[in-house]
Amino acid sequence: MDNYSRMVELVNTLNEYARLYYEQDAPVVSDAEYDKLYDELRKLEETEGYSLKNSPTHRVGGATNKRFEQSKHLKRLYSLDKCQSKEEFNDWYEKIVKSLGYMPELTCEYKFDGLTLNLLYKNGKLVKTTTRGDGVTGEVVTEQVNTIKKLPKEISYKGTIEIQGEGILRLSSFNRYNLTAKEPLKNARNGVAGAIRNLDPKVTAERDLSFFAYNIGYSEMNFSSQAEMHDFLIKEGFEVEGDFELVNSASNAMDYADRTGEKRPNLDYLIDGVVYKINDAALRDELGFTEKFPKWAIAYKYKADEMTTTLRDVEWQVSRSAKLNPIAILEPVDICGVTVSRATLNNYDDIMKKKVRIGDRVFIRRSNDVIPEIMGVAIEGENSISIEKPEICPACGAPVVQYGAFLYCTGDNCAPQAISKMDHFASKDAMDIDGFSEKTAELLYNEKEIRDAVGLMNLQPEDLFGLEGFGDKKIGNLIQSIDKSKNTTLDRFLFAIGIDGIGKKTAKDIVKKFRTLENIMNAQVDELSVIDGIGDILANNIYEFFRDSNRVDFVNKLLGSGIVFKEEEIKTGVFYRLKVVLTGSLPTYKRGEATKMIEDNGGEVASSVSKTVNLVLAGEDAGSKLEKAQSLGIKIINEDEFREMLGIK
Ligand code: NAD
Repeated sequence: MDNYSRMVELVNTLNEYARLYYEQDAPVVSDAEYDKLYDELRKLEETEGYSLKNSPTHRVGGATNKRFEQSKHLKRLYSLDKCQSKEEFNDWYEKIVKSLGYMPELTCEYKFDGLTLNLLYKNGKLVKTTTRGDGVTGEVVTEQVNTIKKLPKEISYKGTIEIQGEGILRLSSFNRYNLTAKEPLKNARNGVAGAIRNLDPKVTAERDLSFFAYNIGYSEMNFSSQAEMHDFLIKEGFEVEGDFELVNSASNAMDYADRTGEKRPNLDYLIDGVVYKINDAALRDELGFTEKFPKWAIAYKYKADEMTTTLRDVEWQVSRSAKLNPIAILEPVDICGVTVSRATLNNYDDIMKKKVRIGDRVFIRRSNDVIPEIMGVAIEGENSISIEKPEICPACGAPVVQYGAFLYCTGDNCAPQAISKMDHFASKDAMDIDGFSEKTAELLYNEKEIRDAVGLMNLQPEDLFGLEGFGDKKIGNLIQSIDKSKNTTLDRFLFAIGIDGIGKKTAKDIVKKFRTLENIMNAQVDELSVIDGIGDILANNIYEFFRDSNRVDFVNKLLGSGIVFKEEEIKTGVFYRLKVVLTGSLPTYKRGEATKMIEDNGGEVASSVSKTVNLVLAGEDAGSKLEKAQSLGIKIINEDEFREMLGIK
């Protein structure tokens, strides 16, 4: 295909994608796929030295939806120039440095991934809110945006002023909404765009949106810098999330990108990059704009964590709690540098709600350590077929029952269940049997008829003779590891026996309260449910577990294999009975190290700040947890003070 034909093809494809994205809030490809085609077009235009009239490279955003009242912005809104590598960023900065003869100061901000909004205040009152639209004219969405609770409807400044920022759907609100939604949202960006560009403000209110301010457009007041604008926004009560920083070198700017990239998976909202802006307003005026973006700002975009791919098949995997988990088998796709070919579909209800079928092109999201998840259908396949609800367990053939959204195998002799139970029992945080793996559990199950943890704990060397890969030495080592594991702690044992819903932290909390296995076995539901993190359902699970004679028999047989509990050391120390939260990065200690030091000195480490927290240990770039601690008046210490408490020089 010649360059001209390819350009026509790209412009048509991108315009159609943009129409679906901007006008319908229903994209059919991920941003990364859109951006790839856009870049190809931009490069072709550069090579050829011309561009088509309707090319998206001339345009900010998309057409406005005419069902909304239209309004012209007092000051134009723009898009942002973008780079994806440090080299590209350095080139951009160097060019500016060369033209100025010195290194200008840059502001660093998060690049929020939501819907751009322009708020017009007159006489201190919010009088109109518009979307960016094509940059000149936007859609009036005042009523919808007024549903954002934290948005200041009045400010102290009485002149006419436009505040620009991003409408955001926090991920906690997104998850909460999807939990009960008839039609789950595919991502938080579409969620906010769809909620605001909706004619019914009640629908907007249900989504529980936020607004993060980052810019001032038109104003009767002069701002000499971005930092001054930022201070003004804070003073007027706008939410200005993100770590606003000033830097004056390319390497410091890239450090900010790296640090923010590490925090990104833990933020409660989507960011797709960071934005650098020249701080000085006079310099900005000098540099000016292209038809699409300011020349004094650039976005550094992170690798995308969302892509589309084809769903090839669904496998039902049986977990140790007998749950049948639907695993999506995907056309392999690269996300954030990792090839993804399997993802979770959560449960059968979720499949029904998302209307996903085998053969469809689907959106898939992978954020750091979380299992990739299918978010919804991008394009229905022509010959797609429905995902059947299994009637029998694919592993053992026993009937399947449904409780709530989940399907369960009812079989007593289901191999994958038994194997993963043994694997869990032996795992590091449970009995910690060195050298034991899922593979070993599988071999024992299939070749030696070892079907549960009791069999495992009673293993004799002769039981292992002839097992593939097991020579004398390996047999000796495994038997020794099993013996060693029998001298354990009660919380490890409690975690190991695999009561549905008990993680290692809950196991510790239970032991802390009840002290002995006998007490735990006799505990009543209301005594259990007072423990932090144990709700009525889990309390009931634990209670029922110890009322089931087979399970009690199992526990007794395990004890009979020689398991003894080390007397729990009553930990005392400077953190005795203190609940501590860690936030930010500490200069020398890793998070795990600091946690261990606190626990070894009698304290408990919690993951979130609440009124019950006694102390916050804050490092650099501590974010919302630190703010919350400050607002609750909780004592905050830094690493030096932490060392001092522990008497470390
Ligand atoms: P952009 O997202 O690339 O960058 C500009 C926007 O960033 C601004 O309008 C502003 O709202 C926002 N922003 C967030 N934080 C900011 C901050 N701190 N300071 C200043 N601005 C900030 O916007 P764009 O050029 O309008 O849109 C292109 C994007 O839309 C691309 O990422 C593209 O992938 C996506 N898109 C996707 C599809 C699709 O089908 N998936 C279609 C069209 C466009």
